[in-house]
Amino acid sequence: MSSSATSLPAPWARLHAALMPDYNRKATAYWWTVVLLGAVALLHSAITVAGLPVVALAQVLAGMVVAAAAGLFPVRIGRSKSSFAAGEIFIFLLLLLHGPAAATLAAGCETFVGAARTSKRWTSRIASPTMSALAMFGTGSLLHTVLRALQREGLTNAGLTVVAAMLCAVLYFAGSTLMVSAVPRFKRNERLQMSDWLSVFGWVGIAFAGSGAVAALLYLTFLQSGQGVLMAVVPILALLLATLHYHGRHQDTLEASQQAAADAAARQAEAMALAALRETEVAALHLKQLQESERRFHSAFTHASIGMALLSFEGRILQDNAALRLLLGLDDAASRRQRIQEFVVDADLAALNRQLARVNELGFEAFALELRCRHRDGHEVWVAAHCSFFSEPGSTAPCLILQAQDITARREAEAGLHHIAFHDALTGLPNRRRFSEYLGQAVARAAAEPDHRFAVMFIDFDRFKLINDSLGHGAGDEFLIQVSRRIQSKLRPHDIVARLGGDEFAILSQQFEHDSDVIVLAERLLLALRETFHVAGTELNSSASIGITTSSIGYATPEDVLRDADIAMYKAKAAGKARYALFDVELHAEVAQRLRLEGELRKALGEGQLSAAFQPLYELAGGRLCGFEALARWTHPEQGAIGPDRFIPIAEESGLIVPITDFMLQRACQQLKEWQALDPQFESLTVNVNISGKDLNQPGLVARVMRAIVMARLQPQCLKLELTENILMTQLDAALPMLEELRALGVGLSVDDFGTGFSSLSHLAQLPIDSLKVDRSFVRNLRSESKSAAVVRAIVQLGNSLGKEVIAEGIETPSQFALLREMGCGLGQGFHMSRPLAPAAALALLQRTLAESHRGLPAPAFDNAVMLH
Ligand code: C2E
Ligand code: CA
Ligand code: CA
Repeated sequence: MSSSATSLPAPWARLHAALMPDYNRKATAYWWTVVLLGAVALLHSAITVAGLPVVALAQVLAGMVVAAAAGLFPVRIGRSKSSFAAGEIFIFLLLLLHGPAAATLAAGCETFVGAARTSKRWTSRIASPTMSALAMFGTGSLLHTVLRALQREGLTNAGLTVVAAMLCAVLYFAGSTLMVSAVPRFKRNERLQMSDWLSVFGWVGIAFAGSGAVAALLYLTFLQSGQGVLMAVVPILALLLATLHYHGRHQDTLEASQQAAADAAARQAEAMALAALRETEVAALHLKQLQESERRFHSAFTHASIGMALLSFEGRILQDNAALRLLLGLDDAASRRQRIQEFVVDADLAALNRQLARVNELGFEAFALELRCRHRDGHEVWVAAHCSFFSEPGSTAPCLILQAQDITARREAEAGLHHIAFHDALTGLPNRRRFSEYLGQAVARAAAEPDHRFAVMFIDFDRFKLINDSLGHGAGDEFLIQVSRRIQSKLRPHDIVARLGGDEFAILSQQFEHDSDVIVLAERLLLALRETFHVAGTELNSSASIGITTSSIGYATPEDVLRDADIAMYKAKAAGKARYALFDVELHAEVAQRLRLEGELRKALGEGQLSAAFQPLYELAGGRLCGFEALARWTHPEQGAIGPDRFIPIAEESGLIVPITDFMLQRACQQLKEWQALDPQFESLTVNVNISGKDLNQPGLVARVMRAIVMARLQPQCLKLELTENILMTQLDAALPMLEELRALGVGLSVDDFGTGFSSLSHLAQLPIDSLKVDRSFVRNLRSESKSAAVVRAIVQLGNSLGKEVIAEGIETPSQFALLREMGCGLGQGFHMSRPLAPAAALALLQRTLAESHRGLPAPAFDNAVMLH
């Protein structure tokens, strides 16, 4: 088309492009040819018709109008798309009556009206009537020629006329159809096809043939009956055709509406199909994504290193992974359809079920729990379980997803740490902290339930420090382990024993009927602990003191319970050790008094209520006074004299012992210096001062001693410090350098209460001491041939051989005095010679001694009649 357009002059080309944009050169040429030939045919026909007589002309014009009018009402043929205008009948009638020119004009008119009605394009509106005109002109001329020829041959019968008219009509139809259908063929550069003509022939061709036949019959009737027939037939025909036309129209609209409905339905179906398709596509995509995510989920599920399972809300295992099976020691199929509860140990089952119920009934989304599971081989596995609501991809049924992590190692480490934190490493027993927890629970329960009773025993070993120091810490540890086993073996299953530290043990006893049950237990324990221990190849005899308190006191805190049990224990110790003591209300009063005394002792120091008494020491052989032991005295403003056995322990506990020792050191040194000044024979007198174990703990002891000596301007060798054997043995390591220093100062050192401690006699040689005081208990039982006599004799002999002075204390009878002198014991003190004396009395003694010596009397100077304290 573009090639045809380019070869044409520009304005013409523009017109062509505007009117016939789809016409190529061939189609254009064909169109013009047909249009020009048609125009010629029409022009010729018009001229011919114009030459007809008036009546004929009127008939032709009427026929043309009817034909044109018929063109407005085409009759559709059956179910085909084609139609035929009923005007054909009148065109053929005009052809038979007035020749091809009249028919050509009528055909042109009819087709023009039809084309104008059906087509919007001028090319069609122009080409269609000219083509019809041309076809009619051709076939009409042919029919006319044939009929003339037949007339000439005398063959004018009706049948031939009808047949000829029918053939003519068919030819006309074929011709015009062929010409019309050639246009699109030429446009598409295609050849004309036989099928174009045949395809449309069918019903339309028959209709045309029918029209031809009807026209022929009308023509024959007209020839016989004149114009009136036509006048009657034409309206009938018009009515019939109009009916057919409207019926067709109605049919058309019906069909159109049906079609429209069908189209709409089809469109809707299509839209639905499309939508469905789109939905399917989306669904497919979604499905793909789902499948992908499901695949990923399953991959993650299967290969997860953490144990996973899908559970029903009752806990049934729907699916599990390898990690979970490994965790529980199951093979592939073993876990399936079992309930997870079956793997959980009984103790943790209730907690799990509670959580499952929360999810199930209360709609909680998730829970986390640490619980113990049973591995198939029987051992327990600690599991951190996290369970949450889960909707599986692609599945509608929700379930639970369980994640289970093996935390056994962590829990064991925690348990280990917990054990360390709450247990004593040596014995494995609960420690003080744990014991306090147990005790706290017992206190709370006793407060809530008056029938619930408990008792606490506080156990302390009477000589543990000695064992530890003399045999070493390893032996001490072994001793404690054996002790803990022995205690445990005597307890009932629900009794709890703990090691509170050092050699202190505590027992919490519950569920007993009478307090006497607790006493029975205490006695059983005392008996068991008195039995010989075998430690580090040595036989050890020890004993324990037990303090007991019970819930009947009405405790509020575990600390109060332990405090009172401790107090009772001290009471047991004070009562002579290796026994039990019950904490009671009296004891409570005693404790209160002790506390009060402590406060008063503090004041006593500043108010001069303390003083020193001096008990003389004598040479046993010659009865010569050789010195004094300074003993502390407290004269209470209300209570009068309070013995050192009462207030020294309080002073030691409260730390008041340090100023008391200082006071005693200064008083003793001063007093001795005064007495020494009385007479040259007194210059050799000595004074013994008792030093407490607590003093040895103080670093300043040497300085304090020195200060007392210097202040009194006393010869250091005139001062002797007494340290009990117990103190020496338990604190020797710490005390030794201090003792060496004191020795270097020239101060004498004496072992007090010798024989009650634990030192072996061979040990004595290494100690930096110059004297030992045999304990009162040996002297008290001193009878010739007694066991004590043997011990004292051995001590005296050893002391003498080691060059240590031996002093006997507590000599109360002349026989004791005599026996000791006979044994070779150098010095002695005791009520037999003199009670401790107030300074004035001591001075009097000294003056008496001086007077007697001046009188030249060598008799023993001690005077057992003087008793001041
Ligand atoms: P100790 O060091 O063994 O003192 C000797 C105790 O034996 C004194 O008791 C004394 O009165 C008593 N005694 C002396 N001769 C006899 C006797 O023939 N028979 C009996 N039954 N007892 C006799 P006291 O003065 O009651 O002192 C008791 C303990 O108090 C002393 O025992 C000593 O351990 C301690 N003590 C006294 N004064 C002081 C002091 O100033 N400092 C320290 N740290 N402790 C002191
Ligand atoms: Ca003493
Ligand atoms: Ca003593």
